[in-house]
Amino acid sequence: MIIGLRELLKRAKEEKYGIPAFAVEDENCMRSAIKIAEQMKSPLIVLAGFKEYSNEKELDDLDYRTHSFLHYGELSSVPVALVRDHTYHYEDAIIGVKAGFQCIMADRSKLPFEENIRQVAEIVKVCHAANVDVEAELGHVGLGLDLEKDSNVFTRPEEAAEYVRRTGCDALAVSIGNAHGLYKGTPKLDFDLLKEISAATDVPLVLHGATGIPEADVTRACQSGICKINVGTDTYMACRDGVLNADLSGAKVYGVFDAMYGGYMEVLRHWMTVTGSAGKAV
Ligand SMILES: [Zn+2]
Repeated sequence: MIIGLRELLKRAKEEKYGIPAFAVEDENCMRSAIKIAEQMKSPLIVLAGFKEYSNEKELDDLDYRTHSFLHYGELSSVPVALVRDHTYHYEDAIIGVKAGFQCIMADRSKLPFEENIRQVAEIVKVCHAANVDVEAELGHVGLGLDLEKDSNVFTRPEEAAEYVRRTGCDALAVSIGNAHGLYKGTPKLDFDLLKEISAATDVPLVLHGATGIPEADVTRACQSGICKINVGTDTYMACRDGVLNADLSGAKVYGVFDAMYGGYMEVLRHWMTVTGSAGKAV
């Protein structure tokens, strides 16, 4: 069944577990994700459509993919939430609402505090009128390979409380030492900071950039206020490696899909276990 993100994360927050949110790229990928979520009895969060709205090709693709994902989500025996990840423009958010997403991520994390609040509050007003949830970001989650350790981009607990109150966002992505893509070395999350942010706000917290964070830290973060954890790079690498390492001589089209999504499904299984979401769809 399809479910709103706010509702899905409410239980995760109460029971202190995380739900992994996976990059899903096409129909076969979506079916693979649902298959594993059903096997693991885990709720599923699908991240889709993060390209710029100005790309005309992406518009058609987004519309098609959203309808297809909603169709499979409705048929699923576990709860599925669809998130339009990282939108940077008002128009981009509205396109997501029109396409049928239950949650829009409005990323204004590169803007100054007041402007971030002003723009996100505007999106929240429109989205809530359409019964769509909004995930926002405070502090900035950069790229792991670019980012030198810079605590200036970390989320500040005292700002987080004010930010959530003034924007009305439903979930908050935080910057506590995490980054997108691959990391230089092993990332180190600031658990004291996470504890302070969690105490200062009442919304579920989100961690972007999960790939490469040690397993024990992921589990600890999910027990300390992180309710949604975004996994992208790990899934991309699994698809790529699945094809590169397979013997596809004589394979038909679906043999290639099997090679691509076999490893992807194992990655999902792993993340559903370490976040504690496995078994929570019952
Ligand atoms: Zn992200």
